[in-house]
Amino acid sequence: MVAMDGPSGTGKSTVSRKLATKLGAGYLDTGAMYRVVTLAVLRAGVDPADAPAVLDVVEKAALGIGTRPDEATVTLDGEDVGAEIRGGAVTTAVSPVSAVPAVRELLVARQREIIDEVLGRVGGIVVEGRDIGTVVSPGAPLKVFLTASAEVRAARRSAQDSAAGRESTVDGARESVERRDRLDSTRAASPLRAAEDAVEVDTSQLNIDQVIVALAELALHRGLLEGCPAEAAR
Ligand code: C5P
Repeated sequence: MVAMDGPSGTGKSTVSRKLATKLGAGYLDTGAMYRVVTLAVLRAGVDPADAPAVLDVVEKAALGIGTRPDEATVTLDGEDVGAEIRGGAVTTAVSPVSAVPAVRELLVARQREIIDEVLGRVGGIVVEGRDIGTVVSPGAPLKVFLTASAEVRAARRSAQDSAAGRESTVDGARESVERRDRLDSTRAASPLRAAEDAVEVDTSQLNIDQVIVALAELALHRGLLEGCPAEAAR
């Protein structure tokens, strides 16, 4: 298993999917899980700052998440919400919702079940988030913490938003990533931080392929390919 943590705009999703594909492993996007339950909260008309009401909605939300790196579908009550969870409303509300300790407990338990199931069935999984190496799977044999400068992260996020047809400016994206970093790093429950034994990779000056090559080598050296297709890391 590979734990992939770090703030937004560091290339976590792209790197995690590509690495999982290269290793023949499964993939879990835990950020998407927090986004789906946030969408449920918004649809229920509940204030994201009202923790008991938020928890009530989250407990009832029927969240579905795929674990194939090429097609990780995300559903709420059976409806594909993959595009909607990336929109501005969810992005603004997701940090307060994910700061509620009971919400984290529920989702972390679900994440551990999914990880166990995929490890048993596929033999490997790349899991991306903020607290994978510190809380969800502190025993993960490879923990990666991706970083990048605020300028680079804002530019990447803005380009992604524009490509998806969402209105975006680099300044607006910078404000948004910095706001979420601040909230995610300072919350009491499982704040965003690197595990002590995580390998930190600054992606500011690297392209995706360079990051993948470096991480696939690390995975190979740590014997993570047992159970995965033999030539996967080559
Ligand atoms: O990774 P992504 O940007 O989609 O994550 C959305 C939000 O979900 C983060 O800003 C953070 O508030 C929350 N999150 C979290 N713990 C995780 C993954 C995401 O709190 N493991």
